[in-house]
Amino acid sequence: MTNLRLLALLAVLLVASGPRARSQASPPPSSLSVHWEELTAADFSEGIRRAQGTCLLPFGILEKHGPHLPLGTDLLDVRYTALHAAEKEYAIVFPDYYFGQIAEARHQPGTIAYSGEIELALLQETTDEMARNGCKKIIIVNGHGGNEHLLPYFAQTQLDKPHDYVVYVFDKRSPDHAALMPKTSPDWHAGESETSKMLIARPDTVHMDRAHQESGADQHRQNLPEDVYTGIWWYARFPNHYAGDGSAATPQLGQVQMDWWIDAVVNTIRAVKADDVSLKLQSEFYEKSQHPLETKP
Ligand SMILES: [Zn+2]
Repeated sequence: MTNLRLLALLAVLLVASGPRARSQASPPPSSLSVHWEELTAADFSEGIRRAQGTCLLPFGILEKHGPHLPLGTDLLDVRYTALHAAEKEYAIVFPDYYFGQIAEARHQPGTIAYSGEIELALLQETTDEMARNGCKKIIIVNGHGGNEHLLPYFAQTQLDKPHDYVVYVFDKRSPDHAALMPKTSPDWHAGESETSKMLIARPDTVHMDRAHQESGADQHRQNLPEDVYTGIWWYARFPNHYAGDGSAATPQLGQVQMDWWIDAVVNTIRAVKADDVSLKLQSEFYEKSQHPLETKP
């Protein structure tokens, strides 16, 4: 047999074995990981189908959390919540993301504070890339209070130019009413609630014995009317980057708050999956914004 004939025979055999090889390929597993980084490429496609294009982007930060909690507290807490929620209502969860607004903690060790330009550009490229891979509904689950202005602004800027996906922001971490409520006030950064949640998410990283080493009290160092905003307001009130009393934390309060938070994210995933209006309206808006003079009242 000539080399040419041998090659032709091989080609025929390869073509003939193709469909059989495909039919022998194992079906996608009945349960898929919710972690983006743990899925194979093929299982990722199946995951996007099962999630109906819904993906979570849990948003953390690296910053001091009082004298007793780790730098990654917001990242650890929000990932715990998002991963548990996605296991209850399937969605694919993006890997660790901590590139948010934290300029006010630059004077403290371990803080990573990117510029505002990088924060917005990186977030846009991240959601663009997620959408290119089938995440047409992206829920940013915010774990960090310092993002409270950044994220609605980012969502608003999605109207600047057309996108074939919708950004949803969920930004609430504690219930307004529950069977068990915090007893101390203020109860903000590294305070009773946040420390309690860490006692559930990562108790091995909490140093309860150090919670009293610094003051988390409001130091009222600025005298301005309430409606006047300055960037230094947080440093003026909480220079230790501690706002509350972590020593009051309990695992019981942490469990109540974590259960509430996970349920709230589950409900958000369900509402977003059911939302067939936002993308349609967004597309209509982009189209009309091309020729505003034709828009009728
Ligand atoms: Zn925090």
